Amino acid sequence: MKNAQCKKCLNKFHQKDIYTIQQFQYRKSPSYKWSVKYFVKLGITERDSFCEACMVEYSKESEKKWNESKI
Ligand SMILES: [Zn+2]
Repeated sequence: MKNAQCKKCLNKFHQKDIYTIQQFQYRKSPSYKWSVKYFVKLGITERDSFCEACMVEYSKESEKKWNESKI
């Protein structure tokens, strides 16, 4: 049963296909601390669920913002 919903695109997914921002703990930069702060500003917490496509989008967006913030 598809009982999990992506907060961004609102599509339904299987629980196992859902991602959270906690996966950003494993990327080298920006730091997870920075990522959490960035997503809080967007109204996103560690408990929100997203599909893979939306997570990839957020990953790119946040990395871009991180790079801009260093200039
Ligand atoms: Zn989505």
